[in-house]
Amino acid sequence: MIEEKIHEECGVFGVYSPTNYGVARDVYYGLYALQHRGQESCGIVVNDDGLFFSHKDLGQVSNVFDSEELNRLPDGNMAVGHVRYGTTGGNSRRNTQPIEVNHQKGKLALAHNGNISNAYDLRNELELGGAIFHTTSDTEIIAYILTRERLKTPSIEKAVLECMKYLEGAYSLVMMSATKLIAARDPHGYRPLCYGITDDGRYIIASETCALEAVGAKLVRDVRPGEVIVFSEDGTTSYTDYCNKENGQICIFEYIYFARPDSVIDGISVHSARVKAGEILAREHEVEADVVVGVPDSGLDAALGYSRYSGIPYGIGFIKNKYIGRTFISPTQDERNSQVKIKLNPISSTVKGKRVILVDDSIVRGTTSGRIVKLLRDAGAKEIHMRISSPPFTNPCYYGTDIDSKDKLIACHHSVEQIAKIIGADSLGYLPIESLGELVGHENYCNACFSGNYATKIPEVVNKNRFEKRLSERDE
Ligand code: SF4
Repeated sequence: MIEEKIHEECGVFGVYSPTNYGVARDVYYGLYALQHRGQESCGIVVNDDGLFFSHKDLGQVSNVFDSEELNRLPDGNMAVGHVRYGTTGGNSRRNTQPIEVNHQKGKLALAHNGNISNAYDLRNELELGGAIFHTTSDTEIIAYILTRERLKTPSIEKAVLECMKYLEGAYSLVMMSATKLIAARDPHGYRPLCYGITDDGRYIIASETCALEAVGAKLVRDVRPGEVIVFSEDGTTSYTDYCNKENGQICIFEYIYFARPDSVIDGISVHSARVKAGEILAREHEVEADVVVGVPDSGLDAALGYSRYSGIPYGIGFIKNKYIGRTFISPTQDERNSQVKIKLNPISSTVKGKRVILVDDSIVRGTTSGRIVKLLRDAGAKEIHMRISSPPFTNPCYYGTDIDSKDKLIACHHSVEQIAKIIGADSLGYLPIESLGELVGHENYCNACFSGNYATKIPEVVNKNRFEKRLSERDE
């Protein structure tokens, strides 16, 4: 899918090396591998014998870090990094991560993926108690509670466990003190987090396994929902106080769209889950056709699955321009159609005169899907049958993505037949919601944006709006 897409908020990365090492380069390669999780800002903090050195800015990893910047960061034995797509709190420079805090008992750097669903209440309470916030991101709320708890506890890991008592919602965290690197995953496990080890003994924590592989690390295992793992010169210690307290709620949309297909989350290959989604679509929404094509990138695996199950040949339907970044802006509204053409060009020899099954991962507002269908029609497709490898979006997400307004979701106000007509497709079929479990082979996942069944208390909409409005006003 291009444009109009649902965005993941962040990717996190951390490294603990038993010896002094160029840890910043590890993080740089890791963040490159996680760039798909956030393109608006990024940062690295290096721990060199207890002293923290950092560089953060707006932009993608390749823009923010050139060799001069990387060389400026010293060797060290620990580092944390972050890529961010900002929704809550907006995308100002002050919201770049990792967040760094100097507190009474030392230093802390913190990188967060997810959204705290009770952030409004927590921030209110803290502010009424005298807290002053420098950013508008909910990550600073975690940092504040964590450092407050650190004053009352003998160690940073105990403070993390105390802090988790207050937090609701989604958080996969990588934290660094002067002497420890810490991974923590919320008790529902909404967002992925795993760790691995290199041949020379460097421990790597990352949002996805593809980032472990980018630095030559082998997956040890996923961080369990509710688990806190500490890496230090004393070895690796796991705290499971919050494990098995909640049903697992891994975000099912990680498998459908957010994560890279070469990643493995909680033991399930993302690529295999997407191929399975395509097979289910072929089973549930059969249609006579000549070719199956996927919308790059995340529709390709599901298109392959559709083709394999149905026996209809798979074809390359589009070429995506790899060199267009998020900063590409068309000068006028009227030029949006040509903007799609520049980003995505159909291969007419694949589709001309053919009945085409077009597979994509989701439809948000419907405008981009309409433009893609038109591209295929203009390229000569005789029929276009759109198949979507997720159920219809009908609800907001409070756990780290930007599905936040029902008004903008086409499936909230239109039937499947109406949507097919609006986007210009001859037929349309979504993945049935009851088939989502087949993608991952279990039923412990979050599907709230499709079902409206939230595993945590839903923040009151009025509060959420007030919170974001108040924060954005401050931001100005
Ligand atoms: Fe993922 Fe949807 Fe749940 Fe958000 S609401 S965590 S996008 S499945």
